[in-house]
Amino acid sequence: MTAATAQSAPQERNGNDRSEAIRVENLHKTFGELEVLKGVSLTAHEGDVVAIIGGSGSGKSTMLRCINFLETPTSGRIVIGGEEVAMRPDGSPASRRQIEHIRQRLGMVFQSFNLWSHKTVMENLIEVPVHVLKVPKEEAIERARTLLARVGLSDKADVYPAFMSGGQQQRAAIARALAIEPRAMLFDEPTSALDPELVGEVLNVIRDLAKEGRTMLLVTHEMKFAREVSDHVIYLYNGRIESGLNKSYGIDFV
Ligand code: ADP
Ligand code: MG
Repeated sequence: MTAATAQSAPQERNGNDRSEAIRVENLHKTFGELEVLKGVSLTAHEGDVVAIIGGSGSGKSTMLRCINFLETPTSGRIVIGGEEVAMRPDGSPASRRQIEHIRQRLGMVFQSFNLWSHKTVMENLIEVPVHVLKVPKEEAIERARTLLARVGLSDKADVYPAFMSGGQQQRAAIARALAIEPRAMLFDEPTSALDPELVGEVLNVIRDLAKEGRTMLLVTHEMKFAREVSDHVIYLYNGRIESGLNKSYGIDFV
């Protein structure tokens, strides 16, 4: 190998100028008899927004949950920023610590806001940075304030989730996911549980994140929004990524 090739980044060798953030390779997931994912592959490079659509029960949540090991893949590879959880021959993850490390690089936002109800918004935002990532408390609070300002919740730092609207709670959940300074964000139908009039404020926050070049996988039923913010839209059908239906959706698939 010459010095020049040794120095070139892997992505340059692949003819791509951005590095790979998330790679899913031939992912299978079975629950008992039910084969939910039948070999799903996708790649998101730094800054990509990939929208994932598909009918109810098609395995969208399962796919996201496998990516951060909330579910253990039956088989296949998940590579996050070049890092991969080693699997034992029996299919179980070899290292709990590796899973924790992968999770710390992925900010997950669920359909049901999932804030800790007994903690204030600020406490929600600093919990993981301070107690898991060992960020000094003052620094974590400072960062949290910046994030709350970005999602329009500067005045809610000391409020408990129950005293906020669904839209405010989901914006706080997004800020909390950002507080770990993730490499990529995973959104699982972030607006599905919201009253229609509150959807827009959450989509605006996600739109801003897309504009600033965040890497994101976004499961959504908001087709117009998916088309607007994403670089790729993938359609999950019958356990596989379907590429033959793009015309009927009027969107470009990967
Ligand atoms: P989607 O998010 O696309 O609506 P899911 O990934 O939630 O779909 O679910 C896909 C299928 O897998 C459904 O049939 C669901 O009932 C099943 N499923 C999901 N999680 C589990 C589980 N933990 N145990 C058994 N079946 C599950
Ligand atoms: Mg789901």
